Amino acid sequence: ATPTSIMVGTGRAAELGVLFRKGDALQALQGVQVVALDKTGTLTQGRPELTDLRLADGFERAQVLALVAAVERGSEHPIAEAIVRAAKAEGLDLPRAEGFASLTGHGVQAEVEGRRVLVGADRLMAREGIDLGDLAQVGEELAGEGRTPLYAAIDGRAAAVIAVADPLKPTSRDAIAALHRLGLEVAMITGDNRATAQAIARQVGIDHVEAEVLPEGKVAALEALRAGGQKLAFVGDGINDAPALAHADVGIAIGTGTDVAIEAADVVLMSGDLRGVVNAFEISAATMRNIR
Ligand code: ADP
Ligand code: MG
Repeated sequence: ATPTSIMVGTGRAAELGVLFRKGDALQALQGVQVVALDKTGTLTQGRPELTDLRLADGFERAQVLALVAAVERGSEHPIAEAIVRAAKAEGLDLPRAEGFASLTGHGVQAEVEGRRVLVGADRLMAREGIDLGDLAQVGEELAGEGRTPLYAAIDGRAAAVIAVADPLKPTSRDAIAALHRLGLEVAMITGDNRATAQAIARQVGIDHVEAEVLPEGKVAALEALRAGGQKLAFVGDGINDAPALAHADVGIAIGTGTDVAIEAADVVLMSGDLRGVVNAFEISAATMRNIR
């Protein structure tokens, strides 16, 4: 590629809000066959809302929500923010939590008013030996609708299932369809529940899903996608995504995401709109055509 054509391509991309931090990414994109995307904040808006709270027998809504929100106040996860917002919207006073611990990729725990409160994914409850009873079935139904079910246990007893829903960005579906039209394989990588991830993937038109991936497992999940040695691009926004952005043949960060993700990427989309990924591939193809 001539420096001039690369400059022209990079300039055209910038006009469309696609910043090539490294000129060779314009060429590298041409070899890419698989595009893997993070779910939360990349395909979705990254701002979940609490949609459901179902109680086990013997528990009361205001009390459970206050205890759970008191614990979540210690977490910076978007799920935690959704729960705290919902509790405040209901006018609840949040008691103080002590001994807060974040269990990466699983949930949170703390002591509140002398009670041990645990909030998180079903796999966290399984690990702690909590019997979910009828709540397990309710959670699976909610997951089937693309909501993320979280369980709350109080003093070792399952108290509630809480669902949060994170809407897709309005243009994600179109962007995925356009990537497919370019002949690319498209996959999603997420720490979320498998059933939830599959429901979201169906809504957005993605057929390959790597779910329940721990933050430190994203690079391995990416490698699993290139069984045949294909070149791949990864699109992400979070701190967790930085290693995968650096590891992929082309890392594409969402400009509205974290600085850590942007620093690790080869390409940065100025807006959160995934049609920018399509623009990046199209400009890359046009640039390389002119050169050959
Ligand atoms: P992602 O960024 O894809 O949501 P994470 O690794 O951050 O992945 O979270 C994976 C899962 O761990 C979440 O879907 C949720 O089930 C659980 N989890 C993480 N943080 C919290 C939290 N603060 N409260 C409850 N559950 C949580
Ligand atoms: Mg994300």
